[in-house]
Amino acid sequence: MRIFDPHIHMTSRTTDDYAAMAAAGVRAIVEPAFWLGQPRTGPGSFADYFDALVGWEPYRAAQFGIAHHATIALNPKEANDPRCRPVLDLVPRYLAKDGVVAVGEIGYDSMTPEEDDAFTRQLAMAVEAGLPALVHTPHRDKVRGTTRSLDVVRESGIGPERVVIDHLNEVTVKQVKDAGCWAGFSIYPDTKMSPPRMVEILKDYGPERVLVNSAADWGKSDPLLTVRTAEAMREAGFTDDDVDLVLWRNPVEFYGQSGRLNLDNTTSAEGTYEGSSILRGGS
Ligand SMILES: [Zn+2]
Repeated sequence: MRIFDPHIHMTSRTTDDYAAMAAAGVRAIVEPAFWLGQPRTGPGSFADYFDALVGWEPYRAAQFGIAHHATIALNPKEANDPRCRPVLDLVPRYLAKDGVVAVGEIGYDSMTPEEDDAFTRQLAMAVEAGLPALVHTPHRDKVRGTTRSLDVVRESGIGPERVVIDHLNEVTVKQVKDAGCWAGFSIYPDTKMSPPRMVEILKDYGPERVLVNSAADWGKSDPLLTVRTAEAMREAGFTDDDVDLVLWRNPVEFYGQSGRLNLDNTTSAEGTYEGSSILRGGS
């Protein structure tokens, strides 16, 4: 079984996680730029974070034979902080880098005018850079947030096949499918979407244009929930080919639209990164 986790925040995870993921079949990942929990106070913190997403973290992943890619954006939550708005001027520079396969996470948190502006401007950057877009839907007021996100996507002129609307559930999946966008699902340990609920959605809507991710980050989450979903699919009677479509070929097709997916680096390698050895630690 080969697994591609299309949304996971490895910056917040340990090498134990990387080892467990590699052992369970995770061979490729996409790490979207997002909120780090602690609010940032200026664009310099974002530049360092973006540099880590395209430099340090791919190096760390490669130690475990995992191909790492990133998406870059000013996230919706911090788009509300005037100190962070200048990050929008940094984003295009990062969108030009190898290993950046989409603009994201963009979208809504509280649906403010500031979020509207950052969302619209960054969708235009995606069109300009020829990249797909990863759209986060709010955890509160999800139906309205999803409807409004689809309206903004439609008005932006980006092809719906180049957009994934993420963190969906039973209530929001239909409108996203109908709009022609990709449907993203984040599987969580106790709340929201679980592997059995995901399997029911796959039965109802089919395995096409669906991305399943762990969205593991600094909160309670589990980087192996992609693997658990694959197992639940098999138990429910899905074929190995269906499992491979959802957990590997779909993310390859979606992020492959960037022209920048590099899946060669899926064998274990040791090495140094700017003089520090990952296996011994940085100091
Ligand atoms: Zn995320």
